[in-house]
Amino acid sequence: MQAIHKWNASNKQPTKNQSVTRTNMNQTINNLLTSQLDTWEMAHDNYAALSQVQIKELDVNGIPYKVQFNPARIVSSGAKVDTQSIKRRKCFLCPANLPPIQKGIPFEGHYNILVNPFPIFPRHLTIPEVAHVDQRIACRFKDMLALAHTLKDYTIFYNGPKCGASAPDHAHFQAGNKGFMPIEKDWRAQVAGKVIDYGEATLRWLNDAPRTTLVIESPRMKDATALFDAIYHSLEIKPGDDEPMMNVLAWYEDGKWIVCVFPRDKHRPACYTAEGDANLLSSPASVDLGGVFITPVEKDFLKITATDVARILSEVCLSAEEFRKVRERIRGGRKDSENDLDLKSN
Ligand SMILES: [Zn+2]
Repeated sequence: MQAIHKWNASNKQPTKNQSVTRTNMNQTINNLLTSQLDTWEMAHDNYAALSQVQIKELDVNGIPYKVQFNPARIVSSGAKVDTQSIKRRKCFLCPANLPPIQKGIPFEGHYNILVNPFPIFPRHLTIPEVAHVDQRIACRFKDMLALAHTLKDYTIFYNGPKCGASAPDHAHFQAGNKGFMPIEKDWRAQVAGKVIDYGEATLRWLNDAPRTTLVIESPRMKDATALFDAIYHSLEIKPGDDEPMMNVLAWYEDGKWIVCVFPRDKHRPACYTAEGDANLLSSPASVDLGGVFITPVEKDFLKITATDVARILSEVCLSAEEFRKVRERIRGGRKDSENDLDLKSN
């Protein structure tokens, strides 16, 4: 656990003044949403269309998932994110390229809180770094926790550069209103066992195969960060990549941060490029792993079954064996304890 000790005590707990800021910030964001939907026709139309989207529910090995038919999301699910395509296009998150009608709220001097004009959530934000720098999590995890703490009505999410981010070249988070993704309220009932404690924080893993989920629960930012660091350093970095593949969700409730980390093995499932009937346009990212599968194509929405979702998850998440090894590495070589079984039956 050497990695864990790298972090020092430089993280401050939220102060009283910050909670005043939080109330203001959430109100300011609500005001931004209202004014953007009043003045920006594309955003207005896409949010209006969202209230009409079709939803269906699936049970994937006992875990509830929703499927959302959302044609506007073709911009993300169908995004070409190879190096050449990225180089050719104008970056849509750079301040100079935002449509003049799009307004933002500064956060901590170097982020910009924007309304996402292609929503999945009734309230959906994109939070880019001001500078055009690559999408990476290690140096920004504390920013993610700070956002989760300040944006108390939202769950913050991070899509790795090869895990659903449609701008892998420009660092950004997204945020969606709480209460939308099933995992937020369901995860506690899915706990398989504890991986490790650190300070006041606990890292657990879920019994939710073929998804592979690690959950940090912590009242202290520095302990949550230490556990995230331990996860990060226990995951493989693929050749040519700069960071382990992952999606991350973070929210703050009852005085604690809850962070779900989904280690990934693959960017897009085989069905994404399959020919004929086998084709299904699914490019899983944080929201899909949080329990809301997005299908931008209607035929896919109509045909997708729990078996398809399970197959897609088994392709893009880790195998059970690799996930077990990751937990062992986090523990410094120790195997899952027998306590896990007790926890599972609780
Ligand atoms: Zn950019």
